[in-house]
Order: sequence, then C-alpha cells, then structure tokens
Amino acid sequence: MDLKKYISIVPDWPKEGVLFKDVTPLMNDGEAYRYATNQIVEYAKEKQIDLVVGPEARGFIIGCPVAYELGVGFAPVRKEGKLPRETIKAEYDLEYGKNVLTIHKDAIKPGQRILITDDLLATGGTMEASIKLVEELGGVVAGLAFLIELDYLHGREKLKGYDILTLMKY
Ligand code: IMP
Repeated sequence: MDLKKYISIVPDWPKEGVLFKDVTPLMNDGEAYRYATNQIVEYAKEKQIDLVVGPEARGFIIGCPVAYELGVGFAPVRKEGKLPRETIKAEYDLEYGKNVLTIHKDAIKPGQRILITDDLLATGGTMEASIKLVEELGGVVAGLAFLIELDYLHGREKLKGYDILTLMKY
C-alpha cells in the first residue's frame, strides 16, 4: 500500500519555511491505519517486545494499537507535570529553549524489551530523550518505529546503535 497517499503536506506550518507532514488522514482511513499498524506489529514480533512506550501525543496513536495486537502493555512518555505519580525526567534541546519528558518510575521492569513508537523522526531529540528514560529504568530498547523519517534532518545520527523501522521517508 502506498502510505504516502495518506500524508498531507502543509507548507509554512507551524511556522514559515516548515513543510509539516500531517499524519491524521492516515489515521482517519481504517485500511491505511491498520496496514501501517500491522507493519509495526510484524517488526515488533521479530524483536520479542515486552512493552511499548510512546511520547505524547502521536506516539500513543501509533503505539497503542501495536501493544493491543501484541498483547503487551503500553507506557506513556509525557511532558512534565502531566503524570500523577513519581516520575523520572529527561531534557532535550529545542530550537529555542528546552523540553522535558517524563515517565512513571514504575512503568518498566528492568530487563524488559521495549519498542518505542512515534509518528515522525525529525531531529531525533524526542526519541533520544525517550530512550534515556527507558534505559534509566533498566529497559532494553529493542527497536524504534516511526511512520515517517525526515532524512534531511539526520535524526538517525542521534540514534546510532539502535534498530529503526520507518514506513516512509522524505
Ligand atoms: P524531533 O524531536 O525533532 O525528532 O521531532 C519529532 C517530534 O516532533 C515528533 O514527536 C513529532 O510528532 C513532531 N514533529 C516534528 N515535525 C513534524 C511533522 O512534520 N509532522 C508531524 N509531527 C512532527
């Protein structure tokens, strides 16, 4: 299936010069959403995943149906102040300023094999911080899965040594 048909490219959003890849049409189409999910499920089966982790908010939309299909759990990574119990945090740089991501301290058992999912790999900052959280809790990052990779931002260079699945490249 040609998944790119379901990606809408929005110029100058959220600011001038950015070509935003909108994945909502893909999720809006039952067949395309299921096809994309199944590709990630097949990958996750090879990696013997025990738990899926995803950063808010689109990481949930990709990761949750994968976890459901595998019969494993899902742990959310969220911005600071959103998770109600004890968390650990990881910071990463944005163009202007910093972002902080958190995860519940008891979300991962040491040694669990983790798949981290998100909609899109851009500079890799979000995924690098998510990996730090998983590893600090003793999780083994067995794979990273994205719908889209923006080649020209070289996010892969930040994620050297990790196994990456991307369903579309731009
Ligand atoms: P990174 O941290 O620079 O790799 O940016 C990736 C994060 O920003 C992901 O969580 C994406 O959801 C979001 N993101 C960045 N660019 C886009 C885009 O063009 N479309 C959708 N999401 C994007």
